[in-house]
Amino acid sequence: MLTDYTAARQLLRHGAELLDAGAPAGPGASMAKLFASEAAVRNTGRAVQILGGSGFIRGVEAERLYRDARITTIYEGTSEVQRLILSRALLK
Ligand SMILES: Cc1cc2nc3c(=O)[nH]c(=O)nc-3n(C[C@H](O)[C@H](O)[C@H](O)COP(=O)(O)OP(=O)(O)OC[C@H]3O[C@@H](n4cnc5c(N)ncnc54)[C@H](O)[C@@H]3O)c2cc1C
Repeated sequence: MLTDYTAARQLLRHGAELLDAGAPAGPGASMAKLFASEAAVRNTGRAVQILGGSGFIRGVEAERLYRDARITTIYEGTSEVQRLILSRALLK
């Protein structure tokens, strides 16, 4: 969980540094958004798993955090759209 968290922060920082430098930041932003949102899903999913059945009950904090994380892979550009952006950048 710590590895996911740290890697997500590093990718976010990388994208922000590209933006600050005025460099093309599309792929950097896509990598940060893709990785951080999927890392959040993995980590909140683990939190639910650790709590067992009680982590799955609506209204429990872990369940709310999992749903809040899950939507980040859908809105503001789905994970599939981020992968399309990255594959186009890679094949250019
Ligand atoms: C809670 C919530 C809040 C939202 N807030 C906003 C908001 O504030 N402003 C706003 O504009 N929108 C908002 N949205 C809409 C959100 O941006 C869209 O749901 C999102 O863009 C996905 O579009 P869609 O739901 O039409 O899915 P679709 O476009 O139908 O996609 C369905 C699935 O197919 C995949 N897919 C689609 N095309 C491709 C492709 N070419 N290659 C590979 N996979 C593909 C997608 O990644 C997805 O997994 C919100 C949605 C939710 C649920």
